[in-house]
Amino acid sequence: MRIGVLALQGDFREHKQAVEALGHEPVEVRLPEELDTLDALVVPGGESTAIGKLATMYGLIEPLQKHIQSGLPVLGTCAGMILLAAGVTDGEQSQLGVLDAVVERNAYGRQNESFEADIEIRGFDRPVRAVFIRAPRIAAHGEGVEVLGSVDGHPVAVRQGHVLAISFHPELTEDRRFHQMLIEMAGRKTVGDGAHD
Ligand code: GLN
Repeated sequence: MRIGVLALQGDFREHKQAVEALGHEPVEVRLPEELDTLDALVVPGGESTAIGKLATMYGLIEPLQKHIQSGLPVLGTCAGMILLAAGVTDGEQSQLGVLDAVVERNAYGRQNESFEADIEIRGFDRPVRAVFIRAPRIAAHGEGVEVLGSVDGHPVAVRQGHVLAISFHPELTEDRRFHQMLIEMAGRKTVGDGAHD
């Protein structure tokens, strides 16, 4: 499958490697038309304000919203989670609003900028080793958002239909289960589309 990786800023290269490791084709996305032939999309971690500004400059905000709203499965990690959400607790920035959630950026404070934790994820048979780097967490979310994993009672992995968002960085570990989940969502979509042929 062709899995797009938004390649404006941040650790998109590591996501490309994760996609390749699963035997799929990673596609760097910088232009709206590059969204047209994808089976799924990854929005990487990095700096969400920078990614949002670049996405605005490149005319990508509306095309991203359109594709995701019409069913393109998406995985957002860390800054990518922020980009997918509808709001942030500390002001305003460019966001896609495809995830019914408000995100608290840098939720773990300055002293604790990065840490690792083993987290139970709904549907996984063993915990993930989660790497948090200046990580956000979900401050509030709508009823349609399913919490897959939390730290200290705060959601850090959520899913709303075909929109999957996590606070941490699976692409920095060898654990490919979230990328696999994205690819499975894309597979279901293909089957669904095929039924109309
Ligand atoms: N703190 C960053 C932000 O607010 C996210 C950090 C990350 O993606 N590792 O955008």
